[in-house]
Amino acid sequence: MRGGGADAVPLEDLGALHAPLAAALEAAARRVLGSGRYVLGPELAAFEREAAAAFGVAHAVGVSSGTDALLALLMAEQIGPGDEVVTTPLSFVAAAAAVARVGARPVFADVDPGTLNLDPDAAAARLGARTRAAIAVHLFGRVARTAPLEAACAARGIPLYGDAAQAAGAADAGGRPAAAVGRAAALSFFPSKNLGGFGDGGMVLTDDGALAERLRLVRVHGASPRHHHVVLGGNFRLDELQAALLRVKLPELARWTAARRALAAGYADALGGTPLALPPTDPGCVWNQYVVRVPDGLRDALAAHLGARGVATAVYYPEPLHLQPCFAALGHGAGDFPVAEGACREVLALPVFPTLGAARQARVVAEIRTFFEDRGGAGRLADRGRPPRG
Ligand SMILES: *Cc1c(COP(=O)(O)O)cnc(C)c1O
Repeated sequence: MRGGGADAVPLEDLGALHAPLAAALEAAARRVLGSGRYVLGPELAAFEREAAAAFGVAHAVGVSSGTDALLALLMAEQIGPGDEVVTTPLSFVAAAAAVARVGARPVFADVDPGTLNLDPDAAAARLGARTRAAIAVHLFGRVARTAPLEAACAARGIPLYGDAAQAAGAADAGGRPAAAVGRAAALSFFPSKNLGGFGDGGMVLTDDGALAERLRLVRVHGASPRHHHVVLGGNFRLDELQAALLRVKLPELARWTAARRALAAGYADALGGTPLALPPTDPGCVWNQYVVRVPDGLRDALAAHLGARGVATAVYYPEPLHLQPCFAALGHGAGDFPVAEGACREVLALPVFPTLGAARQARVVAEIRTFFEDRGGAGRLADRGRPPRG
């Protein structure tokens, strides 16, 4: 039987990922439950040290989510009303929403058609008199090319930040860790991220010690000492339980990343010659998602074909941020950022989780090839140019 069933291919399988770690995870949880310390205790302090070392920065501040990492960062930097922050229209909503939530204005620039990351030249061109910062999102696990944007920000004396929620452990072409791109980077420990927790969690990573201190203040309602509120903050703490569990998973991240990279290389080999546009193969990418582009308006048909055969896919993202109702006040319309809008019509994420394995990946590939064969025969598969419509 096709469809669901034992040979179904999900988009992720956290149960399989965690099964070999069950004893260690249970021991960590028991340690916290018995400790009587549930917030801002030794597990968080240890996890922050271990994460800073693993991700290649001096300071790590654990917070309540990736969204709150971005929000706390903007609050710690006192970005607010009257300020503008340049960022991408093709991402999860969190970065642009954090900008708006502190009262500043998100200013979008279009994305690069190859990487789907913020186009650094287009972004640099959007820096203006009110710009207080830029946020590059390292989408799908690929570190954004930022050099021209960083130079333009530096020339104006404003910071670049990284949204590395999907890019834990990633590096750019020169080997620079994602966490070290810009003044500070936000990580997410949402369960589906490359380093996922057991609930919500996040982190801000930075080499700037003064900024790390301000973040620690903002994380506890700006209180120092307790009940004396120096600045406005929030409750942005990462729980001891999450920190203890994440400490068990952190040492496994490199191995899981290697598995994702092997799968990405497998797709690059096996899907060449199909009409799909494949993502660039840079070695530092950590493949939180393997996102192809399906031409000729066939994206939804391919997704339906795969779904009917038990292969899960997802669309990241179906709607660009500048056209979302929550940003209507920014006054954008269709056509403002055509590369991002075109991507939203064509992107499709294929299964790429660490325990997928070659056999299930081969099934994904076979079903994709069948889809295109059914529509145009083998000749079409060999044609990597624009095939005729029909
Ligand atoms: C997941 C994600 C976030 C938000 O992280 P949460 O932990 O879910 O709040 C922010 N930005 C990007 C690009 C993400 O993928």
